[in-house]
Amino acid sequence: MNNDRINASIITIGDELLIGQTIDTNSAWMGQELNKMGIWVKRRVAVGDVYDEIWNALDEESRQSQIILITGGLGPTADDITKPLLCAYFGGKMVVDEGALQNVKNIFEKYIKRPMLDSNLKQAEVPDVCTVIQNHRGTAPGMWFEKDGKIFVSMPGVPHEMKNMMTEYVLPRLPAMFSLPAVVHRTLLTAGLGESYLADRIKEFEAALPPHIKLAYLPNFGMVRLRLTATGKNETEIIAEVDQLFEELQNQLQDVMVINEDITLEEAIGKLLAKNGKTVSTAESCTGGYIAHLITSIPGSSAYFLGGVVSYDNSIKRGVLGVNEGTLTNSGAVSEETVRQMAEGVKELMKTDYAISISGIMGPGGGSEEKPVGTVWIAVAGKSATVTQKYQTRYDRKRNIEVTAINALNMLRLSIVADSSGDE
Ligand code: AMP
Ligand code: MG
Repeated sequence: MNNDRINASIITIGDELLIGQTIDTNSAWMGQELNKMGIWVKRRVAVGDVYDEIWNALDEESRQSQIILITGGLGPTADDITKPLLCAYFGGKMVVDEGALQNVKNIFEKYIKRPMLDSNLKQAEVPDVCTVIQNHRGTAPGMWFEKDGKIFVSMPGVPHEMKNMMTEYVLPRLPAMFSLPAVVHRTLLTAGLGESYLADRIKEFEAALPPHIKLAYLPNFGMVRLRLTATGKNETEIIAEVDQLFEELQNQLQDVMVINEDITLEEAIGKLLAKNGKTVSTAESCTGGYIAHLITSIPGSSAYFLGGVVSYDNSIKRGVLGVNEGTLTNSGAVSEETVRQMAEGVKELMKTDYAISISGIMGPGGGSEEKPVGTVWIAVAGKSATVTQKYQTRYDRKRNIEVTAINALNMLRLSIVADSSGDE
């Protein structure tokens, strides 16, 4: 089985990756792109800027895979040794590449406006046994080598430079070189039911899946993404097959389904607001603007997000949002009544259809017996009513904020859905 599978290995190079100074985001992105094309990502290896380690990784990965993608170690500084190593590994000699030289010169003239150093000029040198991939985003060229029917591509570590080379040059060349299967994914975003309960609900569906269609559970922040992946020779056939199963899955999980696309909750809410022609504003205390940030990270959010208030101090809750002095004194800033007034206050202030408000204790300090760390009140003011809900989160400060944001966005979503189904 899997004899005709095309394997890829990803080698990331750099001491900073090993000690956690830089997080290896390159592998994650490359893995996703390769997977979409039906290339099996067999291994991911990280090595330091150490000659023998890199050499051994090349030897080992060329035994494992037909495609070996390498990033890092191409900078102008002495610690970056990937290029001379590749030159030796593939038995070439270094030559100046005219295209790369012109590119380095252009970048210096246009942006850096300082004399070039020898180390910068050296960036235009490449082994004469590779095909050069020009770097439209930076100075270090990429290099494409072929040996014994395998390909090795070395790219810069800088993520946006690597991505540009991958999408413009590397990925488009792979289907012509390898016979790749068709791979189709369908993703359902759900909220409100934990992974094990979901699995229990759809156990018969899952058990009846044919072997070339897999179901994955991807839980995150209280939501679960369910992904069906079909692999086969004939793309039209597997699309028809997976679409039918996806339809069935949606029918079984209608009550917990957020959206039948592989998008984030904030994107799904953006679509919902845009479709209904509604607007939203935010009043955030303990999340410090994080929800406004999530909403505005989506292109086109200006159509439905009018603004937000980070009402961290009580004086702002009172002065800007109109929360009663008495409420703050008697019930406290983290209370149902406060978030209700915050949501209604900001909705009135910004003249929006919906408003979200949050007040809570994110930790590590600030908790009490009555209101321990993780106590959060959320309100969503909508068309006719304001809905409030208390949550108890149980993580560190960062994750408490992230979970709270998702809870608040999901409450907003439920309000919009309830209102719009009432319209029909
Ligand atoms: P280099 O090509 O080794 O000079 O790396 C250039 C920059 O890209 C450095 O700031 C690295 O920290 C960053 N970088 C290198 N490898 C990765 C990776 N796998 N994921 C994310 N960033 C990286
Ligand atoms: Mg480096």
